[in-house]
Amino acid sequence: MAGKYTLPALPYGYGALAPAISEQQLTVHHQKHHQAYVNGANAVFEKIEKARKDGTDLDMKATLKELSFHVGGHRMHSKFWENMAPAGKGGGGMPKGALADVISGEFGSFERFKKEFTQAAVSVEGSGWAALSFDPHEPRAMISQIEKHTVNTYPFKMILVLDVWEHAYYLDYKNDRAKFVENFWNVVNWDPVEKRRQKALQMMK
Ligand code: MN
Repeated sequence: MAGKYTLPALPYGYGALAPAISEQQLTVHHQKHHQAYVNGANAVFEKIEKARKDGTDLDMKATLKELSFHVGGHRMHSKFWENMAPAGKGGGGMPKGALADVISGEFGSFERFKKEFTQAAVSVEGSGWAALSFDPHEPRAMISQIEKHTVNTYPFKMILVLDVWEHAYYLDYKNDRAKFVENFWNVVNWDPVEKRRQKALQMMK
């Protein structure tokens, strides 16, 4: 069997994103919710491996849906932690350089992008994510409104992701998702966003 998924350590302390995300909220989100996707992904693979070994049939449709949910959840959270940083120490502010040009070229201005991304995040129906994806073929950036962890994604690299599942903010904001999204902009880290965009371009070569 191939390697198991493991929970990655956060690139900052649990209290480092406060007050945008409190220590308690971030701890529960990382140690309980993200861990559950890691465990879920490993459990589905164990089930698949066992069926292959035993030569038994899988309920393919249900198994693949479950696999996509857990692997997607694990990967999305890993990306999410990376594209945040403590306010004033990498977090907050505006994108610079080539990334700023891509965003203003696509959306007209950074403010317009921020408004559209915010609206996408706030209006996700139920549990999901807002994401900015980059199509290196065109090349251009596009927003997606993801349901659960994987529904409505584009087949391009996601360069910025924001978790708007209720479990991401309920301890700090109760039902006020809009306030959480507003404060997310204080801890967004643009450096990995640009690195991911560069990586997407390199994969074209
Ligand atoms: Mn989450």
